[in-house]
Amino acid sequence: MSNMQQIDSYTTLFGVIGDPIRHSKSPVMMNRAFRETGINGVYAAFHITTETLPDFIRGVRAMNIRGVNVTIPHKLNVMELLDRIDQGAAAIGAVNTIVNDNGILTGYNTDGIGYVRSLKEETFADLAGKTITVIGAGGACRGIVYTLLQEKPKKLTIVNRTAEKAEELAQSLSFYCPVGTELDASSTEELATLCTDADIVINTTSVGMHPHTGISPLDSLWLNPQATVSDLIYNPLQTELLRLAELRGCKTHNGLGMFIYQGAYAFEYWTGKSAPVQAMRETVMLSLSAQTSK
Ligand code: NAP
Repeated sequence: MSNMQQIDSYTTLFGVIGDPIRHSKSPVMMNRAFRETGINGVYAAFHITTETLPDFIRGVRAMNIRGVNVTIPHKLNVMELLDRIDQGAAAIGAVNTIVNDNGILTGYNTDGIGYVRSLKEETFADLAGKTITVIGAGGACRGIVYTLLQEKPKKLTIVNRTAEKAEELAQSLSFYCPVGTELDASSTEELATLCTDADIVINTTSVGMHPHTGISPLDSLWLNPQATVSDLIYNPLQTELLRLAELRGCKTHNGLGMFIYQGAYAFEYWTGKSAPVQAMRETVMLSLSAQTSK
């Protein structure tokens, strides 16, 4: 590749850890960002298990790896191995980005800010005063609800298959709920009404994700055609939920922007430069279409 940065003895190392990890689009996206900005860095994917996580973190310090992204199942466990946790990441209870400042490791969470930036940019939504229904209560949901609360919606309800997890999440984030915002949890029996009443419906479950496409976490007849429907999933880009919501007349939003922006914020923490968001998006789109045409 003509614009490939030469790897030499000054090259700075970056990477993503997870188990599994080979499906990750982060290396293609981040290496494109380094090439685009002329940064002498290289970003790899490391298959790290729960057992090898402490050794990996020792390796980060020893090799002076500048930045690490963290994905399933390490977002929680990695926290106790770091020196500092950013306030937002501490509130969310998960880290997806590590910055190494000469051996001092700080954990951040860019999932929530990445998602909300993408939602606002792509749907032109002003979230203040809105009624939001969030389906799911897993790891990704935590950061999203925490960040959405800062936008001061009128009401945010978390609905999950396992209702206790939704309640636990609402309880643990209630401290961050601004005055004038109602934060609630509910069981899936209330889902139809909660969808009908919502200005924005967000799927944070894995229902509809590759390879189990063709299923939706809700009946699209429950949706208000004026509503915006958002799905965290970006593989496929148009989930069954989004396809049906679009037919219903709703505005739709997929998870690609979240993926790009969580990476863009990480890039900015590591390098102090603005991320080349357009190039990053183009690279991920290309990689996704190469995968589907196989
Ligand atoms: P997770 O922690 O495993 O949580 C999964 C959630 O989905 C739980 O609430 C779970 O409910 C629910 N769920 C799973 N199968 C279900 C089913 N058959 N019916 C109803 N609910 C079901 O996963 P996560 O890390 O939060 O990720 C969730 C989704 O977000 C994934 O699709 C992932 O790809 C996507 N994501 C996207 C980005 C991005 O950058 N766009 C970033 C992170 C995650 P229970 O509690 O009842 O089990």
